[in-house]
Amino acid sequence: MDTFKYIQVPPDGSPIEVAPNGKVQTPAKPIIAFVEGDGTGPDIWRASQLVFDAAVEHCYGGERRIAWMEVFAGEKANQKCGTYLPDETLEAIRQYSVAIKGPLTTPVGEGFRSLNVSLRQKLNLFACVRPVRHFPGVPSPVKEPEKVDMVIFRENTEDVYAGMEVEQGQPETKQLIEYLEKSFGWNIRPDSGIGIKPISITGTKQLVRAALNYAVKHKRKSVTLVHKGNIQKFTEGAFRKWGYDLVREEFSDVAVGWDDCGGDPGGKILVKDAIADIFLQQILTRPNEFDVIATMNLNGDYISDALAAQVGGIGIAPGGNINYETGAAIFEATHGTAPKYANLDKVNPSSVILSGVMMFDHLGWTEVADAITRAMVKTLASQTVTYDFARLMDGAKEVKCSEFGQAIVDNLA
Ligand code: NAP
Repeated sequence: MDTFKYIQVPPDGSPIEVAPNGKVQTPAKPIIAFVEGDGTGPDIWRASQLVFDAAVEHCYGGERRIAWMEVFAGEKANQKCGTYLPDETLEAIRQYSVAIKGPLTTPVGEGFRSLNVSLRQKLNLFACVRPVRHFPGVPSPVKEPEKVDMVIFRENTEDVYAGMEVEQGQPETKQLIEYLEKSFGWNIRPDSGIGIKPISITGTKQLVRAALNYAVKHKRKSVTLVHKGNIQKFTEGAFRKWGYDLVREEFSDVAVGWDDCGGDPGGKILVKDAIADIFLQQILTRPNEFDVIATMNLNGDYISDALAAQVGGIGIAPGGNINYETGAAIFEATHGTAPKYANLDKVNPSSVILSGVMMFDHLGWTEVADAITRAMVKTLASQTVTYDFARLMDGAKEVKCSEFGQAIVDNLA
């Protein structure tokens, strides 16, 4: 293991090992990297860490413990190391496999679009996983939020986020437009900007494989491939086709595609598909018909936020970015840094706490994941909530960020 300039490796912890098949082997004192995050990040991280440590203690006594290792990204990294994303942070996450992070500011004009996107791409965390379920008591804009129980697998490394664009009016854009006209007969308005989106067999199959493996492991009923293949046949349409191909090639004993069974899977997992626009209607009108969702990067971005809104918004939506082949993973808040609330001990820490639930599941410490989930259910049902939910509820007890964390700890049982 390398020594780092800014990162202090906890001497009493051990690295997580990952078997060649991607199976995570967690020691009794795993070293886990964390980034507290910018803005409201430190408040949220303090509350979350309190819950994580108390839940591990609650489940295993002193036998297991997390050896936390702070790694730096965002504003704190810039102050300490002179860069927003130090190489040693990437190296430490690569070496120690699992990290959890609060929200990060996206610095303007720093040569990358977003720190979060950079982390996902540089570590090849190809699946962005977002479970979306409703917790009783959480205010929702829909009548029956309890009907939403989905897990979104969003492809994380390609599509428009792979970032190939040329700006309107630039010489290279003119050159590209001329080339496309000459070589392909494509008539593109001369005053256009151009973006190119790649969707590959590799990217599609590793994502759909992860979604199907999840569906098998968690005994889910269906996987829906969401795409815009009616318009973009060779990218989004191909995603659909390659997804169904994968079911036949690798999962025929446990899953079956709609076309191969006429909609009757006979006890197997049903793999179906939906066009993105109608899907966005149906998750509102018939949410209980959907279970695991597999989709590309941009569709996944819209769908994740739309579904999060149905169950209470981004303050409570967790996320994980996972490479199921190497076991590497970063679990993270899905909201931003909410800078106006920084250091007020005010915002909702649930997004990071529930991302921790995903992390414990990934580590195989399912007792801890379940204990935190039960305590969260109990806390929310007692209407002990932060300002964001309190303003939408009658008779709620509004508490601070840290007090909400403490309430969860008190409800561990
Ligand atoms: P934001 O930080 O997500 O905040 C927007 C609004 O969402 C807040 O004003 C607040 O609404 C609500 N909110 C956010 N976090 C909350 C929490 N924990 N609890 C309760 N309510 C919460 O979005 P932004 O203001 O557009 O972005 C600020 C910065 O965050 C930008 O630099 C952006 O690039 C970055 N960002 C980071 C991530 C990430 O690290 N994953 C994701 C998105 C954005 P009310 O004011 O109505 O209470």
